[in-house]
Amino acid sequence: MKDLKSLTLTELTNELELMGEPKFRAGQIYSWLHVHMVRSIDEMGNIPLKLKEKLKENYEFTSLKVARMQESSIDSTRKYLFELEDGNFVESVFMKYKHGNSVCISSQVGCRMGCKFCASTLDGLERNLKPSEMLDQIYAISKDTGERVSNIVVMGTGEPLDNYDNLLRFLDMISNKDGLNISQRNITVSTCGLLPKIIELSKEKLQITLALSLHATTDEKRKNLMPIANTYAIEDLMEACSEYFNSTGRRISFEYALVKGVNDTDEDARELTSLARPLNCHINLIPVNPIKERDFKRSSRDAIVAFKNKLEKNGINVTIRRELGADIDGACGQLRRRHASTCAD
Ligand code: SAH
Repeated sequence: MKDLKSLTLTELTNELELMGEPKFRAGQIYSWLHVHMVRSIDEMGNIPLKLKEKLKENYEFTSLKVARMQESSIDSTRKYLFELEDGNFVESVFMKYKHGNSVCISSQVGCRMGCKFCASTLDGLERNLKPSEMLDQIYAISKDTGERVSNIVVMGTGEPLDNYDNLLRFLDMISNKDGLNISQRNITVSTCGLLPKIIELSKEKLQITLALSLHATTDEKRKNLMPIANTYAIEDLMEACSEYFNSTGRRISFEYALVKGVNDTDEDARELTSLARPLNCHINLIPVNPIKERDFKRSSRDAIVAFKNKLEKNGINVTIRRELGADIDGACGQLRRRHASTCAD
């Protein structure tokens, strides 16, 4: 059965035409799904009962169930655990900023990239998320909070470029004027660096921000943290980033998680400066969030600030990631695949 919420408006229009329904119904149904974000087909007010029955018979209706929600007592960040139709679970995070509300979504159930410091990859990849399952993380959170979501970061569990086609469909639908119409400029997609996909994405000429998880300045050091570094060299990734900028006009963002004694030395700051300088980029320093399965320690606050100052002095655009939801394990790299292990924490 086709997945109703993953169909574009054009596809839905074709489907309804084949069912012998008038064209305007497609617009109505699409709007119930992607603007009103209904949680069931029954909620589609102006759709005739018979057509609702046909939709139920012929299509899958994806609607994520909130299995658990934790709210931070420090900053009102909310972490959601959603149950999918097949019994898998994914996590998403809702964050409030001065400039608006942001949702961090997952793109896969688990992840196969194997980054050493990340909790989401410990059990490997289970499956890709469908476009509807990415959309519905945002819809379910909008409904639950009653708040408008203005920013999206695809930085939860999973490697978005490893689920490329579904990601692209999701990006198209979430930024479409017939749906939530979220500006592509307010959407960030983070990748560990799947080089061929970065090149492919640059050709799409989207206005989203691409974030590259760099975390080290030499291939040798990067290989110790990220297995993907065995496949793609930093030099080639920098070239792909520059291609992305030239093609889209969008400044690249580099993610750099600071790990004590591993990538936070003066030499690292110098090397990072020379990597960043030729590119129009922004560096986001993330104090690494230790996970209990690994022995990575976060750099001290002083070391982080000193690292930032060194980059800044050299004219590099740099910020330290604000930490939200620390008390609910909502921070970067701490989202997990298994319901069981989430509860056991
Ligand atoms: N797979 C994508 C997106 C998901 S991870 C990627 O690799 O970019 C989102 C960001 O969190 C990445 O920059 C990732 O490297 C970082 N991250 C993962 N685990 C972390 C941890 N324990 N502490 C800090 N950042 C972490």
